Amino acid sequence: MTLSRVKAWRIPLTYGTAVGMASIGSTVLIAALFFSLNRIETSLPKFGFFAIREFHIAIRDVTHLRDMISVAEGAPSAQASLDQLSAANDLVYIRFERLDGKGTISEIPAYAGIVPRVNDAVQRLDAVIDAGLPLDGQSLKASGSELDQIVNRMNDEYYKYGEEVNVDLYSAEQSLKRFNYQIAFALTILSLLAIGTAFLLIGRREAFKRLEFLAWRDTTTELKNRAWMSANRDGMLERARQAGKQLQLLLIDLDHFKRVNDTFGHHVGDLLLKNVAETLQSVERPGEVVAVRLGGDEFAIMAIVDRRSESRLGDHLRDQLNRFADLEGHQVRIGASIGMACFPDQGSDISVLLRNADTALYTAKAEGRSGFVTFSPTLLSQIDLRLSEEASIKRGLNCDEFFLVWQPQFELATGHMTGAEALVRWRDPVSGSVRAPGSFIPTAEKSDLIVDIDKVVLEKACDQAMEWLPVSGADFVWAVNVSGKSLQVDSYVPHLVETLRRTGLPPARLRLEITEGIFIHDSREALETLAQVRAMGVSLALDDFGAGYATFGYLTDFNLNQLKIDRSFLTDLPASPKKQGVVRGMIALANSLGLTVVAEGVETEAQLDFLIAERCHSAQGFYMSEPLEERSLINHLVARQGSLPRMRKPTSSWRTVTG
Ligand code: C2E
Ligand code: CA
Ligand code: CA
Repeated sequence: MTLSRVKAWRIPLTYGTAVGMASIGSTVLIAALFFSLNRIETSLPKFGFFAIREFHIAIRDVTHLRDMISVAEGAPSAQASLDQLSAANDLVYIRFERLDGKGTISEIPAYAGIVPRVNDAVQRLDAVIDAGLPLDGQSLKASGSELDQIVNRMNDEYYKYGEEVNVDLYSAEQSLKRFNYQIAFALTILSLLAIGTAFLLIGRREAFKRLEFLAWRDTTTELKNRAWMSANRDGMLERARQAGKQLQLLLIDLDHFKRVNDTFGHHVGDLLLKNVAETLQSVERPGEVVAVRLGGDEFAIMAIVDRRSESRLGDHLRDQLNRFADLEGHQVRIGASIGMACFPDQGSDISVLLRNADTALYTAKAEGRSGFVTFSPTLLSQIDLRLSEEASIKRGLNCDEFFLVWQPQFELATGHMTGAEALVRWRDPVSGSVRAPGSFIPTAEKSDLIVDIDKVVLEKACDQAMEWLPVSGADFVWAVNVSGKSLQVDSYVPHLVETLRRTGLPPARLRLEITEGIFIHDSREALETLAQVRAMGVSLALDDFGAGYATFGYLTDFNLNQLKIDRSFLTDLPASPKKQGVVRGMIALANSLGLTVVAEGVETEAQLDFLIAERCHSAQGFYMSEPLEERSLINHLVARQGSLPRMRKPTSSWRTVTG
């Protein structure tokens, strides 16, 4: 039997309803029994056993009165005679009052005749008693003979009816009484059994609920599990189809979940999953929007929605899932990538929808984390393109098609070339054309190929730096760009150590350029790598400063050497007082933190003038020099001993050079 069939006939039972049902059942049973018994009882003859017994006692009392009259006749002057006679007379009076007062008894013909006679005799005796001692012998005699007759008559009647009201009736009445007790007992047992059964049913229901929970739910998050999804996804699709609605399938994958686990432990990892599950539960609607944990850090949402609701759910979840969470005192960043495919537009059956949602998720992840992507057929070609691009980057690395150009940096106070930044280029072996990093670094960043590129660049840069150390001057620094991803891999520091050892380049002559992203994403591995790099004596520059998010905490927390003002701040600089203010502020900030500051992307004389006037430490840009091939850079180093040939700007401290 499948679980769903079992589920179908399950009674919705609570303790309240169970006990209620049991008591209603017993009450109905008791009422039915009582009703039928009552009918039997009323159909019985009126002169039942109880009436006969009363009559028997009445005879005894009347006989007793007769005896007391005889005693009184023997001693008419004794006070004792008077007392005993009075007591016996009262007794008979009371008894016959009672017999008379009972409608049922008077229906027995014998009673009807006897009761008035007895009452009469009693009244007459009362008069004799009231007259006091000595008692009137005549009257006593008359009463005695009257009572003799009455007793005889009563005995006659008793035997007559006593025969009729036979032993069977007596015993039937007796057993009726016994049955009443037994029935009451049985009903009590029955009620207890009913209540017990109800409790057993409830226990069974609880066991079922547990079974159902274990079968269909994930125990950590209590969301529905993969098995539930497999069993129900076709049903949901069918319902969407019948209602003419859309079925949105969203696949959700947490970013860096493994790192949270590794850093804070599995307990915090579980808390993170629960936190995410709560967010997902908040959008659930019974039968329409269901959240599922597929396993690990993967979740899914299936939602039957109106066709026009489009990406509202996905947008909402992306916003809700990308935030910080306080997990037992740890501020942990939750990040999630979401891919969506919708029935019927992006798949007419579940397997196609799943595949397409997965493609969308893959794209969301590759496009930098924390994104939400809806499937479209172009994604597939984009992925194909990316895969083939990745393949050619790999080939390029294997065939040593990457090379470096160097862009010089100048100290503005002296005009000296004090450093150069290595920028990677990719030469196509067939056409000989050269590709700029903008055309392949983003793809490499999406895969782990960027790590290999950075390693190759580092090796080449150190090789060249070491080779030209004799002509570069004592303080010349060789800068290399490093992606955040490279800093997160364990092999980066050993590679750096090994490269410095192999080439012999003094660490102080090397500077790594990193971007703000590392601090934003708060990657512990990256921060640890940076600390190790600093400890080795290699300096650090913060690249593209201001282009990212302005969270300045890391500037003080981290031991940086240089800030590179992003070139976006230099465009329109002379015309924009606002930008001037910002650049001025950045220079002041760097100065106050003891960092050198380099302005990037200087393209005009006016920009340079501004930077010099603001006492910016250094500058880099096409106005001074475009990136140069190794040969050209060395020529300049050799010929100018650190100054640049094309530098035209004469300033008081600038060493004028000619080309
Ligand atoms: P970046 O680190 O900010 O490098 C400076 C970029 O600005 C270079 O572009 C450079 O040619 C360009 N540039 C320099 N002066 C000027 C100027 O006056 N005006 C304008 N418009 N641009 C100027 P490039 O070489 O295309 O590099 C682009 C980016 O690629 C770099 O930005 C860097 O983020 C990345 N990159 C380059 N080489 C590497 C590398 O070896 N590893 C990694 N991870 N990234 C690299
Ligand atoms: Ca750079
Ligand atoms: Ca830059």
